[in-house]
Amino acid sequence: MTPLLRFAAVLLFAASTVALAAEPVRVIETRILPQEQLPAATNASHDLRLYLYAFRGTRWLPADIVAAVLEALPLLAQCGVRVAGVELRLLATPSRFHFYSTPVSSQLMREITVAKPAVFFVDDTYSDPAYDAEAIGLSNASTRPDLANTIWFAYGARDLPLAFAHELVHVLSDNGDHSEAPDNLMRPETSPANTRLTDAQCSRLRAIAEANGLLARRAAAEMPRK
Ligand SMILES: [Zn+2]
Repeated sequence: MTPLLRFAAVLLFAASTVALAAEPVRVIETRILPQEQLPAATNASHDLRLYLYAFRGTRWLPADIVAAVLEALPLLAQCGVRVAGVELRLLATPSRFHFYSTPVSSQLMREITVAKPAVFFVDDTYSDPAYDAEAIGLSNASTRPDLANTIWFAYGARDLPLAFAHELVHVLSDNGDHSEAPDNLMRPETSPANTRLTDAQCSRLRAIAEANGLLARRAAAEMPRK
């Protein structure tokens, strides 16, 4: 090897070491769902804006995520919540961020500005037990404050539209309670037959989510009349 080539090789090595140490987390695509795809909610008192995050190089396909979310959103209408906007952001990150774990996922929150409530679709979870989904409100975020108001879905989560609505209710209500009522969305096991929320569940969801800045009260003039 000539001295010049050796020098070039050293430079190349140095450059790749730097890239490895500080591989950036980037948003490579933002999809804003067209308003006409979002469910029309009559007599809604509150607006919700949702932020979905997928990772390039994982098994989740953005189209599958969007389809499941669009199926889930009408379930919120029974609480007077209108979905005012949904954005899906596709991230390019080092692969360690493709798996949920409290320290690594907390670090991701510090690498990018995350709009909330935020729902992340990861390849898998290192949590034990390994839930299909993990919902982190405020009250269960004291040991992991960066992760407040986020939800993490592992690939292959069952009944995804129902599970999505269920976890979202946990986060908006900042409450991990389950219901034993028949047909209730918050039964411990999600099922396509369990879709209802009680008035008490809805009023708690609206009050807590508004107080936590996750729902915006709609101006009276915007609300359709009965
Ligand atoms: Zn639950």
